[in-house]
Amino acid sequence: MIRRLRRLRLTPQLRGMVRETTLAPSDLIYPVFATAAASAPKPIASMPGISQWPVDRIGEEAADAASLGIPAVLVFGIPAEKDPVGSDAYAADGIVQRAVREIRKAVPDMVIVTDVCLCEYTDHGHCGVLNGSTNDLTRPGLPDGYVLNDESVNLLGRIAVSQSEAGADIVAPSAMLDGMVAGIRTALDGAGYTHLPIMSYSAKYASGFYGPFRDAAEGAPKSGDRASHQMDPANAREALTESALDIEEGADFLMVKPALAYLDIIRATRDRFPDLPLAAYNVSGEYAMIKAAAQAGWLDERRGALEVLTGIRRAGADLIITYHAKDAARWLSA
Ligand SMILES: [Zn+2]
Repeated sequence: MIRRLRRLRLTPQLRGMVRETTLAPSDLIYPVFATAAASAPKPIASMPGISQWPVDRIGEEAADAASLGIPAVLVFGIPAEKDPVGSDAYAADGIVQRAVREIRKAVPDMVIVTDVCLCEYTDHGHCGVLNGSTNDLTRPGLPDGYVLNDESVNLLGRIAVSQSEAGADIVAPSAMLDGMVAGIRTALDGAGYTHLPIMSYSAKYASGFYGPFRDAAEGAPKSGDRASHQMDPANAREALTESALDIEEGADFLMVKPALAYLDIIRATRDRFPDLPLAAYNVSGEYAMIKAAAQAGWLDERRGALEVLTGIRRAGADLIITYHAKDAARWLSA
C-alpha cells in the first residue's frame, strides 16, 4: 500500500512530531470567585475542586494557578449586599475591585481579567436594570422586568472603569447587551484607559450548562430567564453577526460561550475573523459533567478533560477559560 497512515503512529515520539494541535498551561485562563462572606475557602458542591475564596485570601488561589504556569485569572465576585442597580459592581471597594488588588499584590505579573456584568450584584439576579423598577427606569412599550439596554450599558461602562482603576488588565463584558462593547470602550477611553483591552463575550448562548456557576456566583435570576439578551442555542449565523458587531465596536478578543456544544461556532468564528484572538469558555456544567462521571468511575477524568480542552483548541480557540485549568496544567507538566 502506498498510503499507510499507521506509519506515523508507531511511537509516542513520532506521534508528537505530527500532532496538529497543542495544549499548554499558557492557553488557559482560570476563573476565581471572591466572596465577602466567608473566612475560609467555601467549596462549591456542584463544582468539585472549586471554592469561593475569602477576598483577603484570593491571592493564594491566584498564586497557586501562577505556580502551575497559568498566565491569567478571570475574577468573579459575590458581594455582601445586592440591590436593584448592582452598586457593588462599580464601587471603589467592591468585591471584585478588592479581589483585583489582592491578586495584584500576590502575583504582580498575573494577567487579571474581570467579568463585567450586573447579575452577581443585583438583588433580582438579572444582567442589567429592569424596566419598571423605579420611576426613572420606566420605559413605556417595554414589558415590566425587561432588562433595559442602554441604561444597563451605561452601568457596564462604570463597572469597567472602576475595575480598571483597581488594576484589571482586561475587562470581559458578559451581559450580551446591544452596544455593550462600544459603551465600555467610550467609558474606558474617557477615563484614560485607552490602552486597556476588551475581551467580549461576543457569542454567549442562553445555555442550560451554566447551572453550577449560578451556585458558585450566587447570581441566578429570581424570576424569568436570560433569553431576551443571550443567544438562542439554535442560531449559528447570528453568532457571526454578534462577533462582527463587537469587532466594529472595538472588541480586542472574541469569545464563544459555552464551548462543548458550540464547537461549530468556535470554528466558524475562527474562520470568519482570523485576525482576532478567540477565547472559548468551557463552562461550569461542562466541568461538572466530567467531574461527576469521573467520581462515579465512569470515565478517566484526566483523559476526558484533556480531550475536551484539546478539542476546543482544535475547533479554533486560542484561549480556554476553564475550571479544569489547574488540573490540566498539572497533567500537562507531569
Ligand atoms: Zn450577567
